[in-house]
Amino acid sequence: MRAPQSRQASERVEVAGIVQGVGFRPFVYRLATELDLVGQVGNDSAKVFIDVVGDAAALDEFAERLRSDAPPLSFIEHVTRRPTETTLETDHFRIVDSVEAAGPRTLVPPDTGLCPDCLAELFESSNRRFRHPFITCTNCGPRFSIITSLPYDRPNTTMADFAMCAACTAEYTDPTDRRYHAQPIGCHECGPTLWFSAPDGEHVVGRAGIEAARKMICSGHIVAVKGVGGFHFAVDATDEEGVGRLRHRKHRPDKPLAVMVRDLEAAQRVAVLSSAEERLLTSPARPVVLARARGDAGIVASVAPGNPLIGVMLAYTPVHHLLLTEPFPPVVMTSANVAGEPITYRDADIEAQLGTVADGLLTNDRRIATPCDDSVVRVVDGSLLPIRRGRGYAPIPVSLERAGHAALGVGGELKSTCCVTDGVHAWVSPHIGDMGTLATLRTFEETVDRFQSMYGIEPAAVAVDSHPGYATSRWAHRTWSARVVETQHHHAHIAAVMAEHHLDPATPVLGFAFDGTGYGDDGSIWGGEVLHATATGYERLASLVPVALPGGDAAIEHPARVALAHLTAAEVDWDEDLPAVGAVPLRDRRLLAQQLASGFGCVPTTSMGRLFDAVASLIGLRHRVSFEAQAAIELEHAAQDNAGQACDYRFELGNGQLDQRPVIRAIVADLLGGRSPGEIADGFHTAVSDAVRMIATRHAASSGIVVLSGGVFQNALLTERTVVALRESGHDARTHRLVPPNDGGLALGQAFIATNSPIPQET
Ligand code: ZN
Ligand code: ZN
Ligand code: FE
Repeated sequence: MRAPQSRQASERVEVAGIVQGVGFRPFVYRLATELDLVGQVGNDSAKVFIDVVGDAAALDEFAERLRSDAPPLSFIEHVTRRPTETTLETDHFRIVDSVEAAGPRTLVPPDTGLCPDCLAELFESSNRRFRHPFITCTNCGPRFSIITSLPYDRPNTTMADFAMCAACTAEYTDPTDRRYHAQPIGCHECGPTLWFSAPDGEHVVGRAGIEAARKMICSGHIVAVKGVGGFHFAVDATDEEGVGRLRHRKHRPDKPLAVMVRDLEAAQRVAVLSSAEERLLTSPARPVVLARARGDAGIVASVAPGNPLIGVMLAYTPVHHLLLTEPFPPVVMTSANVAGEPITYRDADIEAQLGTVADGLLTNDRRIATPCDDSVVRVVDGSLLPIRRGRGYAPIPVSLERAGHAALGVGGELKSTCCVTDGVHAWVSPHIGDMGTLATLRTFEETVDRFQSMYGIEPAAVAVDSHPGYATSRWAHRTWSARVVETQHHHAHIAAVMAEHHLDPATPVLGFAFDGTGYGDDGSIWGGEVLHATATGYERLASLVPVALPGGDAAIEHPARVALAHLTAAEVDWDEDLPAVGAVPLRDRRLLAQQLASGFGCVPTTSMGRLFDAVASLIGLRHRVSFEAQAAIELEHAAQDNAGQACDYRFELGNGQLDQRPVIRAIVADLLGGRSPGEIADGFHTAVSDAVRMIATRHAASSGIVVLSGGVFQNALLTERTVVALRESGHDARTHRLVPPNDGGLALGQAFIATNSPIPQET
């Protein structure tokens, strides 16, 4: 309460961050009213501004609680306060309309899963939105995917197509209502329409459409379902034939498929969940969480063949909740796309797949403005490790906490993303896909355009991977010519971690980039690299001993061939008793031997990813892969499941080498001596983490922080062991928390390098 001799004050308060579309102005209204303050709150494209008059002590409390009590979906970057003249002629507090303003753009909120209040209303028969497939409020629903421009207001979203009815307008304009200024709201009367259609001409609208889709899924068919950032293919996850049909039609033989369940309880029946995993599953972002599968859940093995993990997510839209109402099985929900291509998000594009991939289509007339794939995350060492960053996280910026110049990072070739920065914030796009098809290139170009215009960025420097063949690099050279800055692949990986952790760009870190493939400065394939790096440069301290890779990157599909190459490099005979040797037909083996002896068609590589593949094949786990990292994933799981005594291996360190050959020789000896694959896999993981720890200790004097990046660190066991080993030896180890360690994180690192490098001079 106010002190009797209160002092009146007047202020302009400005709040920057994710403060639009998250119920921030109503929150300010309620807080100001509670504290007996008068004035107004509004927003422009850059921030929320508040003119407020009242007791000085109450103003202090107001400013404090703006941060501490902020709505759950908001993200406050900073609050500034400035005294003003008391000129407000008002006796109450009000919310004013948005005003357009020049200057930096405000942050765009990500798409958010259905909130508990809306979920309750969805199934409450007396509610006027009972079973409304698009129920939403200030605390939940689509955002980023429906925004066409800023500031975030209904006319700048795809909800502009729907005129609000009187009842919705009343809620929208009532500051005390949960739907006050909730841009995507609608109802049965005025909102989007949902329908189901099938190739035979069946067309049913609304509730009957949901029923038709349910029936179709329950009979083993595939239904394309429009979600938030694109379409999914849905099929009963307990139906062997249905899942098989989906795999066949999508040309995706083995890669794990994600499963959607209704709620946490249902998720617990499907996977063994830690409390950290449960928190992530139920978080507003609603990502796909990779967790240990329960064998007894009825989910067929072909959902994730040979994989002890299952990707599980909770229903996150009202449509999903209506679809998955009990009784209903867990469903495979996989992005509607051709392998590696961007997610399908336009109605015309999905209709083209109706009758070929999908047997039915559950869709609606709310347009998706920007495609956004599901996010995939893992828990490592108790915290989040992003594997794919999309819906729910994009486009939350990475704060760089310093001012460089505006830049663009175009990413790599696989799992591509792009990143724009104004030097202060770095906005990483959602996962786009694998470059190399026209569809991906088109989505990539659209995404770059969208991000540049959304945040008003004209890049002074455009960072690309130094690989001359990457489609993104070629595009940048064509489009930006003189502004292009080339970055080395593994340096960009390390820089991404530096950006995430707000590390000083000029202070060197000790970076371990353990990766599949990346273009090296000497034209060979790098990937097992120890770099002494700042944001703008690096020195290569050590790497694996180069191994000739027959056929270069084509060897990726054949871990057995990589294993044989490693045997040759380690001067170990190709003993018929070794599983990897037996896996290569004699004729191919002779050719391979000639190739390795002459070096013809071989590219030297220091790739750690290939070393993991080689070991997986050596111990008989996998000799051929159908998706990236398949062998390495199986190696991780073999190590994790090891019940025996782990083998003891040691890399030889020194002379700029992280020499794997002694490890290969010892593994072969153990194999022939009868040690189990699990014991070897376990020992191999420890050997890698030990090598990191020893190198870190050796360089402790000259390098402070230790940084881990590259696709190999998607391996939770390796990352956890390495981080623990480093920590126990007193090192400050940093890993990815915001963007993936794989090439999905490259664009951030590139942008960080570019924003800190001298601006290229156009000639
Ligand atoms: Zn809600
Ligand atoms: Zn309405
Ligand atoms: Fe990489």
